[in-house]
Amino acid sequence: RERVREILSSVTERSDNRLGVEAMEIFDAYGIPTPEGAVVDDPAEAARIAEGIGEEVVMKIVSPDILHKSDIGGVKVGVPVEEVADAYEDLVSRARNYQPDATILGVQVQEMIDLDGAVETIVGSHTDPQFGPLVMFGLGGVFVEIMEDTTFRLAPVGRDEAAEMTEEIDAAPLLRGARGREAVDVDSIVDAVRRVSQLVADFPSIVELDVNPLVATPDGVRAVDLRLTVD
Ligand code: ADP
Ligand code: MG
Repeated sequence: RERVREILSSVTERSDNRLGVEAMEIFDAYGIPTPEGAVVDDPAEAARIAEGIGEEVVMKIVSPDILHKSDIGGVKVGVPVEEVADAYEDLVSRARNYQPDATILGVQVQEMIDLDGAVETIVGSHTDPQFGPLVMFGLGGVFVEIMEDTTFRLAPVGRDEAAEMTEEIDAAPLLRGARGREAVDVDSIVDAVRRVSQLVADFPSIVELDVNPLVATPDGVRAVDLRLTVD
C-alpha cells in the first residue's frame, strides 16, 4: 500500500498523469502477475537484461507520447538475445521517425509469453461520476474494439462476482476450452480481476486503468501492457 501511494504521488507531481511501465510495480504490490523484465535506456543494458530472461524476448518502446506502441512498430516479439542491441536502436529510430520530438524514456525488455493456446483478455477500470469506480473484463487484444465483448461491475468485486464476469462475456467458451483447445486458467483471471478492482477501490486517484492484454494461458495470467491515469 505504502509503496503504491509513493508511486502514485510521484506521478501527480509530474506534468502528465499517465503511468505505463511504472504501473508494473503497482501490480506487483497487489499480487497481479506481470512478465519478468525491466526498462533500460541503452542497448548494452538491454542485451544484459535479455540474457537474464531467456533466448527470446519482447521489446517495447517506452514513451509518454506513444500510446499505441504496435501502431508505430514499437513492439517486437520474439527477439533473439543476440539481436537485442540492434532491436533497441531500431525501436528508438522508429519512434523518432514517427514523432521527432517524442520523449523517449527507453525500451522495455520483457519475458516472452507463449501465446499459443493463450487468450488475450482485457481488464480495465474507470470512475463513473455517479457510481464511482467500475471494473471491466472482456476479450482483449486486437479484437476489443471490433467485438466490444465486455462486462462491468462496481469495484471492488469478490470472487463470485469476478467469476460471473468471466462467464457472461460472449467469448466465455473460449476461456473454458472450445473445439479441442485447452482451457485457460480461469481462476487466475478471477483473481486478477478481483485484485484490480481492489486496487482502484483503494486508490480513488486512479481514474482510469487498462490492462490490454491480460494474457491468459492454461498456466496462469500475465498483465503484459498497462496504462493507468491518475487524477
Ligand atoms: P500496444 O497495445 O501499445 O500496441 P502491447 O504491449 O499490448 O502494446 O503489445 C501488443 C501485442 O504484442 C499484445 O497484444 C500481444 O499480442 C503482444 N505482446 C506484448 N507483450 C508480449 C509478451 N510479453 N509476450 C508475448 N506477446 C506479447
Ligand atoms: Mg496493448
